[in-house]
Amino acid sequence: MRAAGAFAAQVVDWQRRCGRNDLPWQNTQDPYRVWLSEIMLQQTQVATVRDYFTRFVERFPDVKSLAEASQDDVMGLWSGLGYYSRARNLHRCAQQVMTQHQGAFPSRSDALETLPGIGRSTAAAIASLCFGERVAILDANVKRVVTRVTGFDADLALAANTRALWEAAAALLPKLEDAGKAMPRYTQGMMDLGATVCLPRKPACSTCPVQSFCVATAAGDPQKYPVRTRTLKRSSQSIWLLWAQSVDGAVWFSKRPTPGVWAGLYCLPLFDSEDAMLRSVPPHLRVELDAQPVFTHVLTHKDLHLHPWRWSLPSEAMSWDEGQWMGAQDWPRMGLPAPIRKLLQQGLSA
Ligand code: SF4
Repeated sequence: MRAAGAFAAQVVDWQRRCGRNDLPWQNTQDPYRVWLSEIMLQQTQVATVRDYFTRFVERFPDVKSLAEASQDDVMGLWSGLGYYSRARNLHRCAQQVMTQHQGAFPSRSDALETLPGIGRSTAAAIASLCFGERVAILDANVKRVVTRVTGFDADLALAANTRALWEAAAALLPKLEDAGKAMPRYTQGMMDLGATVCLPRKPACSTCPVQSFCVATAAGDPQKYPVRTRTLKRSSQSIWLLWAQSVDGAVWFSKRPTPGVWAGLYCLPLFDSEDAMLRSVPPHLRVELDAQPVFTHVLTHKDLHLHPWRWSLPSEAMSWDEGQWMGAQDWPRMGLPAPIRKLLQQGLSA
């Protein structure tokens, strides 16, 4: 690597001229907004996060209002973003900031990392963007940039190699004397490079601001980085859904236990076999059950094969464990898994 700090200076300069500067969570050093956006952006595209972020901060403008909200309200607003453990941790984190930090996020990454749902890279993002701490981030996009720039070809399936990559990322940071001022823009610049230039396939090397530093592009094969041999195996699961609906349109929902699929969300009662679902319905009423088309919902590492069975009831006299009848007017504010919401909407318009 050329003179220490030269790479970082290039990233900072490029971010100022060409980076993303108009996202709703930018142009602020408010750790609440930065934290919220960082959590939402894990596993989720910027285009999707925009609207959710705006709705969230309108409803919960600060950490106090989020901490005081009910879990149902938080899950309801999160509904559709997926990876619901993020929402549960978000709520717990807000409560801990209130009870253990007097309502102010810690300014150091090591203290931020002790809060629920905040990992090393997220802690570093908040500390560097909001407080100028000289600390590296290493989310999936930035891993790609760092491995390519430095020609880091060790297998990231091994923890020791990931530790070495953190050191490589730290070696690229702005010089100590520049850090306080440069860090927010440097961190944003690394995120922007990974998201808009150094793409997984077909990186735009010819327009990349750090091309002259990049070992991978000089060697002619940037796409071989990052190296990771072990890929998580996909699995599949079949789930039977009891879609009980009264004559006035109310549907029976039960709240999913934690841990498990869709933990903390409201859902149609779930069963792991058709027999188990049938056993939950009195024998003389089973003839009224109507099997709906099976559909598949794809999670990151799992395919869920969903088997809905619809049951139209004359009244709301039936009940199952831990749940309640809810009318269609209540569904928009409830935390519902995305495929269940879609199924119900299709039922409304059928
Ligand atoms: Fe990525 Fe190409 Fe830039 Fe290297 S030169 S950092 S491979 S976009």
